[in-house]
Amino acid sequence: LWSQVLERLQLELSRPTFETWIKTANAERLENNCLVIITPNPFARNWLQKYYINTIANVVQNILGYPVEIYITVAQGGEVTPIDKRETAEKFPNSSFVSESQTQKTQMNAELNSKYVFSRFVVGANNRMAHAASLAVAESPGKEFNPLFLCGGVGLGKTHLMQAIGHYRWEICPNSKIFYVSTEQFTNDLITAIRNDSMQSFREHYRAADVLLVDDIQFLEGKEYTQEEFFHTFNTLHEAGKQVVIASDRPPNQIPQLQERLSSRFSMGLIADIQSPDLETRMAILQKKAEYENICLPRDVIEYIATNYKSNIRELEGALIRALAYISIWGLPMTVENIAPVLETPSEKLAATPEVILATIAENFDVSIEDLKSNSRRREISWARQIAMYLMRQHTDLSLPRIGEEFGGKDHTTVMYSCEKITQLKESDRNLGNTLRQLSDRINMTSRSQK
Ligand code: ADP
Ligand code: MG
Repeated sequence: LWSQVLERLQLELSRPTFETWIKTANAERLENNCLVIITPNPFARNWLQKYYINTIANVVQNILGYPVEIYITVAQGGEVTPIDKRETAEKFPNSSFVSESQTQKTQMNAELNSKYVFSRFVVGANNRMAHAASLAVAESPGKEFNPLFLCGGVGLGKTHLMQAIGHYRWEICPNSKIFYVSTEQFTNDLITAIRNDSMQSFREHYRAADVLLVDDIQFLEGKEYTQEEFFHTFNTLHEAGKQVVIASDRPPNQIPQLQERLSSRFSMGLIADIQSPDLETRMAILQKKAEYENICLPRDVIEYIATNYKSNIRELEGALIRALAYISIWGLPMTVENIAPVLETPSEKLAATPEVILATIAENFDVSIEDLKSNSRRREISWARQIAMYLMRQHTDLSLPRIGEEFGGKDHTTVMYSCEKITQLKESDRNLGNTLRQLSDRINMTSRSQK
């Protein structure tokens, strides 16, 4: 996995960034949807944490197909600053950084992200019902909505709400057994139990829950044996009046190869869906986030970011963090103009055909499409060609070799070099950032009008 991650990051980040910060880091383990990355020293750790954690998370998510939380720690033997200690203690109660006295409380919270609490959740028209139901369940589990089935697209707050239920319960009732588990982990635990001949204790463990929170249940798809086992776990808990909360990226009846009996059980409580947030809600989310980070954001900046990131709150937050990093690296005032170049909007980049891209670039740089496909090394032609390659990489799903073909049969390394070069330049050259953005917009416009 890590070598795949490195490969992609290499394309995404500038060379100095990659060489200095990424190459020296290593992945330690992937567990509980949680990837631990080890850095050689605290400084590298802080840097990655501050500026690149989202990029890494996105890349990992793209590769694995599901979101993973990234934890960055310092290699054993490296010095650890107090901040590291605190954060690590929260996330890894069993790690050696934690003193004995701390373990009791943190152990229970181990799987929960401390930020995913109700007070940090912004309620809007898109999630009002899911929020209200979650709160009701947190207040009186096993009563009204059982199971509570939260569904909605990626990055819309399902995990956040689910874990908020967990935090809330713990607050009120520190002794209750709250289990938060991804479907992946449930499956892995099951496999381990089978292998170690410890099914008994596996069953006892899960069936002892007071509240069972199961995330990303869509991954049950096609896993017959896990479904079977989950069915029994579910029934045992449900009959005992214990609360089950399930999250999924789609409703039960749309999960392929899910046993009918499971699907009907999932539907017997409440199915609450979360939609994409409207502009106002997105702005409120950014505002809240900024408040927690003690940052003052001008209203037009908030509006600008919120306008450009519509369908995924994780991306919305990522955009804010990128903007903050950029502003602080270059020591610029926080204005719309200053952050525009870094806020590319990947989700908004419409798919375009190679023809549209070539035509747009040719027109803009006043060269011909033949020039772009030629081997000419004239400066303005090869510059336009590199930008075209970069944009083709961004706007299409074509592989590097296929893009090479679109340019009269260039080698894929040439394409890769161009993409890397433009990516790198754009980080330090704000004009280039603006140019690319405008070109992207124009490509989007043409593509849209062709549909
Ligand atoms: P999902 O599980 O649906 O893919 P998450 O719960 O992981 O999404 O949410 C993605 C990110 O967006 C998290 O950082 C979460 O805190 C944030 N988020 C989502 N919805 C809200 C909201 N309504 N208010 C504040 N933050 C939110
Ligand atoms: Mg989730």
